[in-house]
Amino acid sequence: MTPSRFNLGLIGYPLERSLSPQIHQAALRFSGLQGEYRLYPVAPLPEGQEALEHMLKRLRQGSLHGLNVTIPHKQNVLPHLDELAPAARSVGAANTLYVQNGRLVGDNTDIPGFLADLQRQLPGASGKALVLGAGGSARAVVYALLQTGWQVVVAARRLEQAASLLPSPVGGRTRPELAEGVGDDGYLPSVQAVLLEASSLAGVPDVSLVVNATPVGMLPQPGASPWPEDLALPPGAAVYDLIYKPLETRLMRQARQAGHVAFNGLGMLVEQAALSFERWTGVSVNRAAIWEAISS
Ligand code: NAP
Repeated sequence: MTPSRFNLGLIGYPLERSLSPQIHQAALRFSGLQGEYRLYPVAPLPEGQEALEHMLKRLRQGSLHGLNVTIPHKQNVLPHLDELAPAARSVGAANTLYVQNGRLVGDNTDIPGFLADLQRQLPGASGKALVLGAGGSARAVVYALLQTGWQVVVAARRLEQAASLLPSPVGGRTRPELAEGVGDDGYLPSVQAVLLEASSLAGVPDVSLVVNATPVGMLPQPGASPWPEDLALPPGAAVYDLIYKPLETRLMRQARQAGHVAFNGLGMLVEQAALSFERWTGVSVNRAAIWEAISS
């Protein structure tokens, strides 16, 4: 049954810088739906355990109709869910929760959100992508890129973390542990791991896309860049920085000054939010209205 009023929100910590309330309030307004989207800070575990369980109980009981999940709880929520949508299962993280047929479901809209924005910014692009970082969002980005035929090199400051995204033998076949469903047609996705340092990055040829999936350069440290100072960016590569605060990161500025195209993560944020909203309400969101709301 469709609620007459949608009670939506975000759990994570810290949340003060979140743009999600602005995005979802606009989505509610422009869809003609009643409701609200609130921030629910839940401290990291173990301190936040009780608060986390309380929020999920509210969702099950119907006093909340949809929740987004952000750092540090995208994996912490998994043991409490009844069901994972394929995208969330593949990357082992959920950012969107709702109840369907009495079951608490976790989905991951970061994956289609990143893909939709990448295709909007670089229609038809393909080739080799170099992903900086190997945390939660890197897993979503790598999965999205593999699904669409990119070769991927993951660069992280801890090689073992980058290697955790590599193909591993499963049932006698070799494919990325994270990419369930990718390669079912027999095609073997290509993923490599290197250290996030100048000498290793310099040895990666033919890169056409660099994705920053580390928090380096995000407020309150906008002066930092994940790319080594003494190394030129790969010739002709586009740069996609998942960060959107600030809107132009130091990495983006370095890239633009050297003649590369560079994008921030605001488009991904808008897309993943719109897709979450659609899961909760069944209503397709007018993206232009959201862009207008966050630009004003
Ligand atoms: P995460 O799970 O904590 O992963 C961060 C990754 O960056 C880890 O591999 C971490 O390595 C690495 N890292 C952190 N500090 C580093 C440093 N100084 N030098 C080199 N590597 C470093 O975080 P996440 O969820 O993936 O988020 C990463 C960024 O993406 C954040 O800025 C977040 O706001 C942004 N994001 C944007 C969107 C969007 O919609 N635009 C969506 C999701 C995330 P260690 O494990 O060794 O620390």
